[in-house]
Amino acid sequence: MDRALIEELRAALGASRAWLAEWIEEGVEGPATLGAAPARAKAAAPPAARPVSAQAQGDLLAPARSGQRPTLEEVRARLGDCTRCPLSAGRNTIVFGDGNPDADILFVGEGPGAEEDKRGLPFVGRAGELLTRMIERGMGIPRSQVYICNIVKCRPPQNREPAPNEIAACRPFLDEQIDAVAPKVIVTLGRPATGVLLGRDVSITRVRGVWHDYRGTPLMPTFHPAFILRQYTEENRRLVWQDLKAALERAQAPA
Ligand code: SF4
Repeated sequence: MDRALIEELRAALGASRAWLAEWIEEGVEGPATLGAAPARAKAAAPPAARPVSAQAQGDLLAPARSGQRPTLEEVRARLGDCTRCPLSAGRNTIVFGDGNPDADILFVGEGPGAEEDKRGLPFVGRAGELLTRMIERGMGIPRSQVYICNIVKCRPPQNREPAPNEIAACRPFLDEQIDAVAPKVIVTLGRPATGVLLGRDVSITRVRGVWHDYRGTPLMPTFHPAFILRQYTEENRRLVWQDLKAALERAQAPA
């Protein structure tokens, strides 16, 4: 076969793979998902946004405005037995966060799943086990050395994506957690978490592997481990290792 034609076919195949991965990440069922049990089944679209009261946000943002770093204990105390958004109605446990309060690397996911809701810890289900392997075997550091949290602290029903009003209500706590830990690097896991921190809709296949900035902290987006479980290909695993290696190198670089 003609060499130019082979190159053209190769490029087309590469582009199709990327698009397919993106569709799957965004919840569109494709041939590659057939026969695979999704780790986090996508449910109906989140309910429409409802505004969060200024008071609800204001009382949370006040400590950050003072310019002092809060402690995680202070943030957790302010969260209390939170009912600031509708997710409180269906939760068993508030999943605040877990790990080293002085971590150099802070991971942010989307929200707790069933196992997390039961145990009160982030990333302890199947996807969490993979994240732990990614951290411990891939990065070569104990999971307890990093800090892990989510955009929302209560489980969305049927593992749907958090709605804008839920994100808005919980967001000040995430920002305070980041302020408290003051990591050298933030790693966002998947499209929703990345989109929230970057403040725009993103295509995870386009933004992953590229350094961004979140309020002065370098931010590396990568695939959510649940996506890797669904699409357990050599290529996807290679890309995640690449992103985590970059995050580790940046976190360990001299200031
Ligand atoms: Fe409160 Fe966040 Fe839970 Fe909503 S998700 S009830 S804001 S802790």
